[in-house]
Amino acid sequence: MKISEILKSKEVTISYEVFPPKKDMPFEPILAAVDRLCQSKPDFMSVTYGAGGGTGHNTIKIADHVQNEMGVTSLAHLSCISSTPQQVKAAINEIKSCGIENILALRGDIPAGTDPAAPRDYRFASELVREIKKHGDFCIGAACYPEGHVECEHKEDDITYLKEKVDSGVDFLTTQMFFDNNVLYNFLYRIRERGITVPVIAGIMPVTNGKQMARICQLSGTYLPARFKAIVDKFGDKPEAMKQAGIAYATDQIIDLIANGVKGIHIYTMNKPDVAESIRNNLSYIIGK
Ligand code: FAD
Repeated sequence: MKISEILKSKEVTISYEVFPPKKDMPFEPILAAVDRLCQSKPDFMSVTYGAGGGTGHNTIKIADHVQNEMGVTSLAHLSCISSTPQQVKAAINEIKSCGIENILALRGDIPAGTDPAAPRDYRFASELVREIKKHGDFCIGAACYPEGHVECEHKEDDITYLKEKVDSGVDFLTTQMFFDNNVLYNFLYRIRERGITVPVIAGIMPVTNGKQMARICQLSGTYLPARFKAIVDKFGDKPEAMKQAGIAYATDQIIDLIANGVKGIHIYTMNKPDVAESIRNNLSYIIGK
């Protein structure tokens, strides 16, 4: 089923993101986590595409398993920055042959040590969106950044390019993680003003390893509210306490989002079924499942 139809048909959707095994890593532990995640019946499950494209086949293999063996609609991520048009076309055809109707079209990060301005087959995700549209009737998602993408100096330019990307044929957007809901509300206001009207799904990262996450956020420029920092300072060295606090923080964020009319919630599960299950249990009466 197309995600655009799922989003239209439900009051609130809860979906999950998983990642595939890296090259030459065993499949079984990841499949076991994915299967357990599928048992809690997310509205759809997205499968990331390894940076550099090296694990692309694993992405499609997991997405195929999720949809055709576990009965959960899947969303295959696909990035283009390190790929040739032939490789992109082959990936799209493989996705199509599995009966997967949903693709998250991404540029991917510029490979470390390469010149960002070097000539490439694909420079931006919008070019991939146009390529996907040429090859089938897919529901196409894309990424967005409530705090602005790290490479873009001015937020307003980032929104101009986002509008260009959506206009190239995007059906929905999924956000980068954020820890202050006001950041999302401000972003939604600004993009709606600029005529971006497609559904925006909020990406929520439950933080279960606080110190590591705080470092990642500092590098990517994600704003850390004082309340979040206090939790990490207090519990970052106590894994069980940090996990409990991270689940509570994510639950609290999601309840506030739903209360304020956000309809799509995407949980970055990091392949941890127990974390996703705990969040869902905390929401049982709120999402009515
Ligand atoms: P784009 O939309 O192309 O934007 C990239 C930059 O270029 C931005 O700064 C934008 O403002 C600028 N830009 C866009 N168009 C133009 C233009 N015409 N002229 C000038 N500048 C322009 N990465 C992976 O490798 N695999 C994954 O599975 C993956 N999943 C993700 C899922 C989500 C929900 C998110 C938010 C990110 C994900 N990423 C993934 C990371 C993503 O690939 C990186 O953030 C990447 O740096 C940007 O990708 P994009 O698709 O947003 O790029």
